[in-house]
Amino acid sequence: MASVTKLKTIEDSGPRRREKPAVDPATLEHKHLLDGDFWRRIPAYADVTEEQFLDHKWQAKKSITKPKKLLESLEGLVSDSFIEDVSRGFRRSPMSVRVSPYLLSLIDWDDPYNDPLRIQFIPVGSRLLSNHPEVGLDSLHEQADSPVPGLTHRYSDKALFLALDTCPVYCRFCTRSYAVGTDTEEVEKVQLKVNAQRWEAVFDYIRSRPELEDIVISGGDSYQLRAEQIRTIGMTLLEMDNVRRMRFATKGPAVMPQKILTDHAWADALTDVAQRGRKLHKEVVVHTHFNAPREITSITRAAMDKLFERGITVRNQTVLQRGVNDSIDSMQLLVKRLAYCNVHPYYVYVHDLVQGVEDLRTSVDTALTIEKHVRGYTAGFNTPTFVVDAPGGGGKRDAHSFEHYNRETGISVYTAPSVKDGFFFYYDPLHALSDDAQARWQDPAERAKMKSAALAAAKQGR
Ligand code: SF4
Repeated sequence: MASVTKLKTIEDSGPRRREKPAVDPATLEHKHLLDGDFWRRIPAYADVTEEQFLDHKWQAKKSITKPKKLLESLEGLVSDSFIEDVSRGFRRSPMSVRVSPYLLSLIDWDDPYNDPLRIQFIPVGSRLLSNHPEVGLDSLHEQADSPVPGLTHRYSDKALFLALDTCPVYCRFCTRSYAVGTDTEEVEKVQLKVNAQRWEAVFDYIRSRPELEDIVISGGDSYQLRAEQIRTIGMTLLEMDNVRRMRFATKGPAVMPQKILTDHAWADALTDVAQRGRKLHKEVVVHTHFNAPREITSITRAAMDKLFERGITVRNQTVLQRGVNDSIDSMQLLVKRLAYCNVHPYYVYVHDLVQGVEDLRTSVDTALTIEKHVRGYTAGFNTPTFVVDAPGGGGKRDAHSFEHYNRETGISVYTAPSVKDGFFFYYDPLHALSDDAQARWQDPAERAKMKSAALAAAKQGR
């Protein structure tokens, strides 16, 4: 009788296999996008049809640009004391106001103080904090690195073209509050209007610099460019031998995705430039700016699907903000939701040192903690790099790459050998520091001592 050889099964050899239980689809929160006629919750939009709500012209026309109008639309939704608080917030804000009906509809007006969208766009006086002593207008020194008006040339092969100075929304935290929007009680703006002569000077400069391969078209915001202006800029740059890549930067998809769906001329112009770029083996992409998971709805997904079908890559740059996305859960959800809509999470910025929004800033330490939990949560190519845009023009530095970081004083020091000589200081917000450290920052002599100690430590690599 033939002997029967018992085959060893995988279970018999080595450690037991672990089978992951299937996840309950209901728990996959990133896939649950707001749908239906959610805007009808707002009394002013109760009778608005889907067709109207999806029409970008209606969204633009009904966008609120005057604090008084905004306060009128909030009547009945929020308490009088909240309205009074918002009025005080506007009086102290360096930014203009512009809020689309879409955005207004996404805010939870039952809890406006803690809503991540309200926090970003509508200031309330009672939450504002004094600026850190080192905060200033144009902390990134964009104007100092500007060879012609509206063009910043900082990195060797890349330039930033500020084509115009308006946006589909005005964000409280805008780094470019020195130029974007109209003058406010706090700030008189640098003018960067659409102007053929200014644009020609920018094009001439880019053409004259063989090292420039990468152009970011921003503003303001590319959403505000007319279709023919998208074409003019795109095709002019594509014809330059030196230009290999361009990105149209826009916050539009986060605040008015309707435009991509219903402004056919604009979407076609972008598509034509991208197609022409592909023929010339040059990359044309969109860079956008979602900060909170709730900004992504089923309308967003439809808009991103349309760009995806047309072969247009979209990447996202997030700003880390207190109460908006400064928790592990919210950042993980944002990253997964972006990827679900084919938007690549590219950067998370530690908040720039912007005037008037100290309440929004977080510490470098917060960024490092969140990054640790985001990395590994999804595929590497969908994992954003957490950066500090080094104040003073050092450019984006990996948040972990400081030469020195003192969590007690909140000072981190970076170097940027391929961008600019010297040391670049970032300062955690005072609210993240101990009472003792906050008191030291109020004293100019102590301030100087803390900074020189940080510099000495950075030079010694401590
Ligand atoms: S959309 Fe961009 S440029 Fe415009 S206000 Fe917001 S952050 Fe500033």
